[in-house]
Amino acid sequence: MKSMITSKINEPLAIHGGRPIRLKALPPEFPGSIFFDNKEIKQITEVIKARSPFRYYGPKLQHQVDQLEQVWQKKFNIPYSLAVNSGTAALHIALLAMGIGPGDEVLLPGYLWVSCVSAIVRAGAIPRLVDIDPTFTMDPNDLLKKITPYSKVIMYIHMNGATGHLDKILDIAKQYNLLLLEDCSQAVGAKYNNQYLGTFGDVGTFSLQLNKNITSGEGGVIVCKSEALYHRCCAIHDVGYIRNKSGRNKTQVYELWGVGSRMSELTGAVALVQFQKLDKIVERMHHAKWKIREMLQTLSLLQFRYITDTVGDSSCRLIVIYPTQKLCKEFAKALFAEGIYSSEGSPACEIMKDSKLHWYFNISSLQHKVSWCLDGFPWSHPKNNFAQAYQYSPGTLPICDDLAARSLILSISPGFNKQDIEDIIHAFYKVYYHLCIIAKKGKR
Ligand SMILES: *Cc1c(COP(=O)(O)O)cnc(C)c1O
Repeated sequence: MKSMITSKINEPLAIHGGRPIRLKALPPEFPGSIFFDNKEIKQITEVIKARSPFRYYGPKLQHQVDQLEQVWQKKFNIPYSLAVNSGTAALHIALLAMGIGPGDEVLLPGYLWVSCVSAIVRAGAIPRLVDIDPTFTMDPNDLLKKITPYSKVIMYIHMNGATGHLDKILDIAKQYNLLLLEDCSQAVGAKYNNQYLGTFGDVGTFSLQLNKNITSGEGGVIVCKSEALYHRCCAIHDVGYIRNKSGRNKTQVYELWGVGSRMSELTGAVALVQFQKLDKIVERMHHAKWKIREMLQTLSLLQFRYITDTVGDSSCRLIVIYPTQKLCKEFAKALFAEGIYSSEGSPACEIMKDSKLHWYFNISSLQHKVSWCLDGFPWSHPKNNFAQAYQYSPGTLPICDDLAARSLILSISPGFNKQDIEDIIHAFYKVYYHLCIIAKKGKR
């Protein structure tokens, strides 16, 4: 492999009219759906044939969603799980189940997904931003600086397939008596110290949307250890009441308000089959990502996201950090020209700050403290007065701003074959040779 690489890297770059490394798009970044086969078709067909698409009753109920929850609990070794209709809903329900509302503050990192902020605001609470560190997840040191008497929950987000300094976060949660919500939407099947992410905190949430490690198009899962919290989640995800075998269970403790986020049996059927493919999908991504990363590590100007548990990394993305924004930009352009892009309109490799709703500074409704009613709730709520001076504008979190501007993120597909992996490495080597070695020599 090494000899193949050195033989072509000194050809002209494709952006300067040279031959690109490859002409064919890379496999798409949608890990689960590229593994769809007859198994999903068969499972969903059973639901159609039975005419039974609702999880709680109907003719010849197939119990797809029940089964999904059971296998999830068993594999993750956690007593309670609840399937819902999206990862966004899972976050919202989890916060409501924890009783979060006006007067409360939820700490979350500035590298996130818009749904994380939205869940907090819709609960009537205040998002409090915490900076990240080179793990691209919440920095425990900045967390310590951000905790106030209003802090109730740490929303820890395992971004791009892996966690960060989770041990320190757990210690802080314990020491300050804060609840810990793990958003594992981007890290289904990832581990830390050989334990599944989502099972460390008070509650874990997952997404089964198309971009995630496994998919049923839409879907989400909540896991927790507390029976009471589980019952509250059940009531909230439904129409506000819990159920037992014979229908509604009339216990006043769990008479709440529902958000209508049940999972259908059709979704459950696909999710159940996908769950059986989780290990295979993660294994393939892990192999591809770490092969690429190992080879790129010889390029001395490049740095990489710090991964605290390399074995447990579900590996759906590779993050490369450049010494300057300029070099990062030039690399992105040159790699694209070398054929490092994927089909379905998704760039295989993009500058991180360009991923729109993943950064606090790209979320306009947060910066403008938008409300969906004229009242201005929750920002205007008297109990939220403590947060009046909170800012969400660019510059609030310097490490987020800096890393986002000079890092590239490469989507890793479990569909990468040997050639795809070699082409990616090769393209990086070629671009590096031209932009970092030749260009430097020329300047002397
Ligand atoms: C995708 C995602 C969600 C939301 O999941 P949906 O199923 O798309 O609603 C929440 N948090 C993070 C970090 C995500 O990446």
